[in-house]
Amino acid sequence: AGRMDLEKQAFDLRECIESAFDLVAGRATEKGIDLAYLLDPNVPPVIIGDSTRLRQILLNLLSNALKFTHEGEVVLAVSAEKEEDGPLYQLHFAVRDTGIGIPPERMDRLFRSFSQVDASTTRKYGGTGLGLAISKRLAELMGGRMWVESAGVVGQGSIFHFTLRAEPSTSPLPIFLHVKQPELSGRRVLIVDDNATNRYILMRQVQSWGMEASETAYPHQALDWLQAGQTFDVALLDMQMPEMDGVALATEMAHCCLSRHPMPLIMLTSLGLREADALEVKFAAYLTKPIKPAVLYTTLLNVFGKQPAVQKVIQGVPASDLPAAAGRPLRILLAEDTVVNQKVALHILERLGYRADLASNGLEVLEALQRQPYDVILMDVQMPEMDGLETTRQVRSGIWLGSHHAGSFKYQPYIIAMTANAMQGDRETCLAAGMDDYISKPVHVDELSLALGKAPVLHQDEARPAGAPQPVEAPAGEAIDPQAFAQFCQAMGSEAPLAIRSLLQDFIVESRAQLDELRRAVQAGDLEKTRRDAHSLKSSGMLVGALRLSEQCKTIEVAARQGAPAPIPGLLEQVEAEL
Ligand code: ADP
Repeated sequence: AGRMDLEKQAFDLRECIESAFDLVAGRATEKGIDLAYLLDPNVPPVIIGDSTRLRQILLNLLSNALKFTHEGEVVLAVSAEKEEDGPLYQLHFAVRDTGIGIPPERMDRLFRSFSQVDASTTRKYGGTGLGLAISKRLAELMGGRMWVESAGVVGQGSIFHFTLRAEPSTSPLPIFLHVKQPELSGRRVLIVDDNATNRYILMRQVQSWGMEASETAYPHQALDWLQAGQTFDVALLDMQMPEMDGVALATEMAHCCLSRHPMPLIMLTSLGLREADALEVKFAAYLTKPIKPAVLYTTLLNVFGKQPAVQKVIQGVPASDLPAAAGRPLRILLAEDTVVNQKVALHILERLGYRADLASNGLEVLEALQRQPYDVILMDVQMPEMDGLETTRQVRSGIWLGSHHAGSFKYQPYIIAMTANAMQGDRETCLAAGMDDYISKPVHVDELSLALGKAPVLHQDEARPAGAPQPVEAPAGEAIDPQAFAQFCQAMGSEAPLAIRSLLQDFIVESRAQLDELRRAVQAGDLEKTRRDAHSLKSSGMLVGALRLSEQCKTIEVAARQGAPAPIPGLLEQVEAEL
């Protein structure tokens, strides 16, 4: 009905874009289509606006582009221009595909509700013909417009453009992404990828860090360079290339030159780690497309054995300044109905060192409370079946407990409302329903952390005693807790097995690197670093349900924090075995 209020919140534009890509990456892999995105350096990193709606538009355009493309690539480019009068920027997004294209005479119909290019589209591709109409309206609400460009030639594809006006946020977000990095500067990179867009993006990125890059589309040319005596510090090899794939190239490189001039090899792939362990050549890392600059950055530092020169900062708060979640063993229930929001909230919680159980409506919240106590419920206000307000009233009244529980019921969870329509009076409504606190959506790491900091820990009796930590007795059973893993899958959207698989692959690669770091810290006797590294590995483990691993890391973390290093080497052995 066009009656819609937009959020006005500072958010990280890159994170918003990456989260939209995360959701389509699985489908791109299945179809063998390359994904990439490119942000001009002058695009403000943090803008004020409605990140959920922007993601909705991007997701829509990216899904369409993938749907109507059978081979080639889908690329998002973002540019920005400052308006002359005032602080606002015009942001321009363009989603380009190499798909079936749209005949010029049909273009004007596209943005009308319930319209598709022709009737055969519906038969072949399905869809409702609503996505673009909604996306266009959203772009207009954001002060922009939407249009399309296409020659209507199969293979030349289409470009969907939209603009919006936004104010950059002044909150300091240290952007390591576009400045020279002392640890990387001057290092020589070899890039071999048949996809020109990808090469261009990688070149620009590594050059902005001060690296010297040589690129080629041809594996044979790379081999020629090496045979002619050229040396590099690292090579980025694409897996899928027509002439010779990444593994074959790596094998050739190993035969001809790597013994004389060893260098780490990094694989770029949308296929994942398949059979990686059986390979003759070991890759130092595997990166999934689209390549995220932040991931490329940490990977490069890792292969060079360095720590990030700039600490990773989440929306203005250095991760190390966030309250140590380990000290506050909160049990959290996240009540939220949309998968994207679940994913984002869980992701933020995890960064804060927390794990949460999930409920997707009020009835599920009540069920979850029957099963076990929670310290905190993060409660979405609008949910199907039973909304957050009604759920809170029921929780507070205790009716839901049923007769057999009522007597033993001694606590009430701390309820934090999450709502996207930050309207006047909402806060009061939430508090009146019995909620304790209120945060706005999209959830911000610092706001959430503050709110969680106020919640009392209810189940102190179950928290680990503060005395000297004992090595944990490894519980019998699987390394991956099935229930925790199921929750992880649910949070990732169980309809996206490929996304889950690629995340698990990231976990394998990353946790090995984290373990190496931890081992180094223990060997150096650096308790502070040991604590930090154990903490990181603990959080990664929790995310995928490796609960025993997490528990072991936590014991190391606690020992290091208490300055009691004696049991650490023994514990480290356990962690190694577990991993
Ligand atoms: P639907 O749910 O049917 O995909 P949309 O409003 O998102 O609804 O798209 C409307 C129609 O526009 C599609 O059915 C398709 O015919 C056409 N279309 C959208 N994006 C593309 C694209 N990238 N390439 C070719 N055709 C497209």
